[in-house]
Amino acid sequence: MPDYKVAIIGAGFCGTMVAVHLARLAPDMPVALIERNPIPGRGLAYGTTDPDHLLNVRAEQMGAFADDQRHFWHWLEAQPDINLSRQDFAPRMVYGRYLGEILAQARAANPRLSLLTRRIADVRQLQNGFELRSDDGRILTSESIVLALGNFPPDQLSGNADEMNPYAPETWKDLAGHGDILIVGTGLTSLDLVVTMAKTKQTGKIHLLSRHGLLPREHTNPESHILKMRPPYPATALGLCKWIRQEIADAPDTPWQAVIDSLRPLNQQLWQSLNRDEQRRFMRHLRAYWDVHRHRCAPKIMDAYRGLEQAGRLALHHGTIIKQTTHEKGVDVLWRPRGSMSPETLAVQKIVRCTGPQADFRRLGDPLVQNLLKANLITADDLRLGIESEDYTACNAAGHKVDGLYVLGSLLKGKLYESIAVPELREQAADVARIITKEKNGCARPAPSAAKTSDYR
Ligand SMILES: Cc1cc2nc3c(=O)[nH]c(=O)nc-3n(C[C@H](O)[C@H](O)[C@H](O)COP(=O)(O)OP(=O)(O)OC[C@H]3O[C@@H](n4cnc5c(N)ncnc54)[C@H](O)[C@@H]3O)c2cc1C
Repeated sequence: MPDYKVAIIGAGFCGTMVAVHLARLAPDMPVALIERNPIPGRGLAYGTTDPDHLLNVRAEQMGAFADDQRHFWHWLEAQPDINLSRQDFAPRMVYGRYLGEILAQARAANPRLSLLTRRIADVRQLQNGFELRSDDGRILTSESIVLALGNFPPDQLSGNADEMNPYAPETWKDLAGHGDILIVGTGLTSLDLVVTMAKTKQTGKIHLLSRHGLLPREHTNPESHILKMRPPYPATALGLCKWIRQEIADAPDTPWQAVIDSLRPLNQQLWQSLNRDEQRRFMRHLRAYWDVHRHRCAPKIMDAYRGLEQAGRLALHHGTIIKQTTHEKGVDVLWRPRGSMSPETLAVQKIVRCTGPQADFRRLGDPLVQNLLKANLITADDLRLGIESEDYTACNAAGHKVDGLYVLGSLLKGKLYESIAVPELREQAADVARIITKEKNGCARPAPSAAKTSDYR
């Protein structure tokens, strides 16, 4: 008999919330929640130790439970040492604390929920389940597995294994020293780093460089918008783009942010209505623009950015890096500004990469991913955004479901595109736990809930 009914690999938001729901639905089920980092429930997003790294969703919409979306806000209200309103963008480390408490309650509800600190490096399919081997050689067995692996680090810029982690306090200390620095990428992670540097870096310039030089837009006061457009929705990337522009133009008194947010419950459906060629077209031409409008940041974050810019301490560049040469005094970065034929050189002390997660599973060096691919238990999707799946179950190269191997979160980006933030992940975690419980009880698999993440800004 396998050691566990369910082994959840990864205790970020997704893995933690699957364990929490399982504890509610089946309080005596032997479940292993496995995390390679010592503190579970945080993941990359909520593990930061800088209190100025803020959520990019308002407190009132960050409830961890799909059936209680105000849960986080109510929890905040009950904390004597925290003074935040429902409309605030709370520190992400506070959200980590919130998840930690929810997990502690789940462990109290299900004493058979074990928290294991280890890095799973390999999975083998058995007749009655799976064998999981960690990188130190320890082995456990489980009837089923939930892959809640989250986001992987970006591709390395230089191939150096010692590239800096933008969320590590040692990196912040290193970058705060004398001299100019270069942050490659201009998304939310880069802005987090800018926020930290605004406090800690007293001298030297901060250069930001990305292909498009696009920064996440800012949140405005929340407003709602009722979409005028009705189905059938456009089935091409260009058609969708025109449609959204028209919707914004037709609502001159409504901020565009409200229109983008009103699309939220439809986004997965809109993505799935594009065929593969159109999805590729979206990725090539529209993704960069969509992402900065859709994934916006708290106004305080942009205040820090503008403060540095106005003080002449920050410069934004758009172009491509051709080459970087490291020497005793720092790094020379040869890059070509967008639209120019003449390369330029930036001489900096340090360079840090914040270009977003690597989602092409074929290129990931992660041993678990490579072994799962080799064993034909997962298949990379051809958009290079995640893995193939059907109803939260991984599919092999032949397109068949691998029974008992469940997936959720950013691994589903190729299928859903919007599979990133708490408002959709909380639905997924509840769905996966429901499916597992029903299957373990020998019932037919319940239908996954439709994405109903309407309350999101
Ligand atoms: C910096 C940042 C800020 C964000 N801010 C917000 C926000 O404000 N609001 C919002 O809604 N969303 C935000 N997000 C989106 C965020 O991705 C989700 O909210 C959520 O945290 C994702 O959870 P996850 O469990 O899928 O992934 P993760 O949080 O990445 O968790 C995956 C976990 O799996 C573990 N793991 C991976 N492989 C193994 C292995 N082989 N063995 C053992 N453990 C393993 C990792 O250590 C990690 O803890 C943010 C994301 C990032 C990166």
